[in-house]
Amino acid sequence: MEIENLTKDIRNRAFERKKDKTPDQVAASWYNDDLTYSGVNKTLFLILPTPGCSWALGDAGGCTMCSYVSDCTLEPIESEDILRIFNNHLERFPLDEEDEIAVKLFASGSFLNPYELPKDARDEILKTLVNLGNVKEIIVESRPEYVTENVLDEIGEIVGDILFEVSIGLETYNDETRLNKINKGFTCKDFENAVNLIHDISDNKGYNFKAKAYVFVKPIFLSEKEAIDEAIATAEYCESVGVDRLSFCPATIHGGTLIERLWRQGAYQPPWIWSTVEIINTVRKTVNIPSLLDTSGFGSRRGPYNCKKCNKELKHRIISSNLDQSIIEYDCDCKDKWLADVSCSDMNFSKTFNKHVPLY
Ligand code: SF4
Ligand SMILES: [Zn+2]
Repeated sequence: MEIENLTKDIRNRAFERKKDKTPDQVAASWYNDDLTYSGVNKTLFLILPTPGCSWALGDAGGCTMCSYVSDCTLEPIESEDILRIFNNHLERFPLDEEDEIAVKLFASGSFLNPYELPKDARDEILKTLVNLGNVKEIIVESRPEYVTENVLDEIGEIVGDILFEVSIGLETYNDETRLNKINKGFTCKDFENAVNLIHDISDNKGYNFKAKAYVFVKPIFLSEKEAIDEAIATAEYCESVGVDRLSFCPATIHGGTLIERLWRQGAYQPPWIWSTVEIINTVRKTVNIPSLLDTSGFGSRRGPYNCKKCNKELKHRIISSNLDQSIIEYDCDCKDKWLADVSCSDMNFSKTFNKHVPLY
């Protein structure tokens, strides 16, 4: 498929320019307040060292907006190195000072894929967290193909009734967008099967598993208005198939991706911050599950942008509204420009199916 070849080609060129990273350089951690299922709690965020997302390393070339793989080693890592680095990061924070904490483990790909994170390292990490005694929620990310009964059962036997959330990058309810514009390689059906499995095994075995969906705001070849409508429709779809929480990820321009190539050619712009506010406000009014809005890159040249007067203020308001799920109310002179963009941006949009757009 053209989109796969193109993504793979761009990815390979990015790898040629990539500087080698050691497992220690890949890992990172920070400790913040975050919204958990039981309210606002301290949360440890930990990026584990991994070779990188198998979908991005494989023939498909990965997703058109993501370059997390470029921050990874690209080579398998020994379990003992992963565990040494994990324990080093754990010791940096006063975790024992809190009654309840949550831990978010990022694998720059799929935590549940044993190629990216070997089973022995995964089990040991989970056992360490369980033994801390005050970890009430563990959150990981995975593509749906690694959400299997076997893996979930292995995890459930370790974590017991601790809340364990699997976050899946659904990105959109629209299969056409997900397959041909994001190059995600799976369908709604695959996603629903994974969500059902997470809930079924949880109910049958007495675990406390939850499913979260990431929603990507403004994939390539979508106008500003289409991006808003599709994100809201995706939230409604997620609620209808039993997703427990939502996290909206507005586009930022990652280096070495197809989205970056289009952006450099003036053929793509990340969403307005107003669009993301419109989405989160609408979803919080109409969809009955908690919804978070990621503000990474907000106000930067490569991220969602309004104007210099309101970028920062809106970012702060969004971060605090994530904690109490409130509606964001704010105004700025630039809102009229956004409204004009929303009503006019697809006026001269080509109706040509993107497969035939000359991308090279
Ligand atoms: S978005 Fe997820 S599946 Fe896609 S390339 Fe990035 S890490 Fe891999
Ligand atoms: Zn403004």
